[in-house]
Amino acid sequence: MTLSSTTPRPLIAGNWKMNGLSTALEEARAVAAALEDEPAAARIAIFPPATLLHRLSQALENSPVLTGGQDCHDKASGAHTGDIAAEMIADAGGKLVICGHSERRCDHGETSEQVAGKAEAAAEAGLEPIVCVGEALATREAGDAVSFVVQQVRDSLPATLAGKAFSVAYEPLWAIGTGKTASVDNIVEMHAAIRGELRSIFGEAGKVVPILYGGSVKPDNAGEILAAAEVGGALVGGASLKAADFLAIIRAAQA
Ligand code: PEP
Repeated sequence: MTLSSTTPRPLIAGNWKMNGLSTALEEARAVAAALEDEPAAARIAIFPPATLLHRLSQALENSPVLTGGQDCHDKASGAHTGDIAAEMIADAGGKLVICGHSERRCDHGETSEQVAGKAEAAAEAGLEPIVCVGEALATREAGDAVSFVVQQVRDSLPATLAGKAFSVAYEPLWAIGTGKTASVDNIVEMHAAIRGELRSIFGEAGKVVPILYGGSVKPDNAGEILAAAEVGGALVGGASLKAADFLAIIRAAQA
């Protein structure tokens, strides 16, 4: 998958995390049915638990909703019990993969260098990685949020992504699943800093890499967040689990 030289449509990505049994497929079908009746300005993707990826991809085939994995290994195959290779995600119908979500970084000790390896493996397998970065509350309170996140961007994006389709998601840890969102001023400041780093790594192509915001995006704040400068979409956790809420966020995105 190659990177377009024009500004891409916003991406609204729903991360179901460790939520969802077979019955959850109905929520995704409801999203797809609504978008077929009234197409969205944004690109849409749902990231179910690995157990549902193949079935969800089949259920959404020929619909405007893409699917993806929540993580992938940096190796193509081998003795890594419980892990999933990028090619397996593609084989199950996924088109994208989240790399370096803060819950992976915290729960599994993933470093930015490992995240870069995962993003490289994802692109190699033809997937579009969404590389997550974000600071903890203590880092923000110490006044170090921007320098911390810029360093994470530098360390988490392999140079091999040049010319490939990928996104960065800025997700302050203190805003994920807490109901607290970063202020629009904080988001604009951070996205501008990330854009600067993307341009310094990837040159002209770095100007159009989508930068998503994630952290308690809900129907009532999505419009304001998605309209902010350099916000190229949203990574949505809790509010992506119910079709009505996810659709309201999707409708808030303008092309
Ligand atoms: C996320 O899962 O990346 C996320 C931002 O979660 P929530 O929207 O629930 O804060």
